Amino acid sequence: MSSKAAAKSNAPATLYVVATPIGNLGDMTFRAVECLKQASLIACEDTRTSQVLLAHYGIASPTISFHEHNRAARVPELIARLKAGESVALISDAGTPLVSDPGETLVKAAWEAGITVTPIPGASAAIAALSAAGMAAEGFFFAGFLPTKPAERRARLSLMRALPVTVILYEAPHRIADTLRELAALLGDRPATLARELTKKFEQFHHGTLHTLAQMVAAQPVKGELVLLIAPAASEAALADEALIDQMITDALRRLPKSAAAAEVARATGLPREEIYARTLTHPRQA
Ligand code: SAM
Repeated sequence: MSSKAAAKSNAPATLYVVATPIGNLGDMTFRAVECLKQASLIACEDTRTSQVLLAHYGIASPTISFHEHNRAARVPELIARLKAGESVALISDAGTPLVSDPGETLVKAAWEAGITVTPIPGASAAIAALSAAGMAAEGFFFAGFLPTKPAERRARLSLMRALPVTVILYEAPHRIADTLRELAALLGDRPATLARELTKKFEQFHHGTLHTLAQMVAAQPVKGELVLLIAPAASEAALADEALIDQMITDALRRLPKSAAAAEVARATGLPREEIYARTLTHPRQA
């Protein structure tokens, strides 16, 4: 189906994954409005939340709730309706569905059932933040919300530590102070930007480092929705293998006491000083 045809009427038996605004209702695309108007059914993360948007654009298509807690029952129901020839549009409360939002199981099931899946692209907080933060953007790692289970969280943070690209995180305002402190300790004190309330009245970008941003939010708690962007691992040395780091520690320990050696190696590698210091404690000192 051509894009022109898509703008006029939805193809039957198609699942449309439709992005909606992340705060500013004006950020709805023309195609998204048309698609939702033509949909046989709109699957909404929260029907009441979406009603504000739908009413704003005069969209009267029937809605049905689709979220983490009812997806087991809803996926087969929606797939059956798609197979019967209906066109279904999936939206979340804000931004692009599946991006830290429900929808993955439905999209997978649709492909498995041979149903056409089509994105109607638009806003996403991660990309909006990246586009205006002024940080490296040729490549990036979208980490979503960090896992809360300690083992999974450690694994995610250790994966992030040496990445040579900007890392983008979502975080809740009541957790941001602790998360910034934890990130500064584990990733080293990197340049970072905290983007707040994007596209809304109180939109703000705070530029600093993980440490200065942690101090800022500790002094003055932030409210609203947040995206955190963290600069790539500081230097090539951050990617160095264990042997090279050991060699650097050996060299530093020849000249300096442990804490000064740890500080020097931490600066050179971009790795946390505490971690390097711990390694100096068990490091065989060279003559
Ligand atoms: N699907 C959405 C997207 O495409 O960005 C993300 C949904 S996720 C459940 C919600 C999180 O996205 C918020 O907690 C916040 O971290 C981020 N977010 C959403 N809207 C935002 C905004 N206007 N400004 C800053 N961050 C936002």
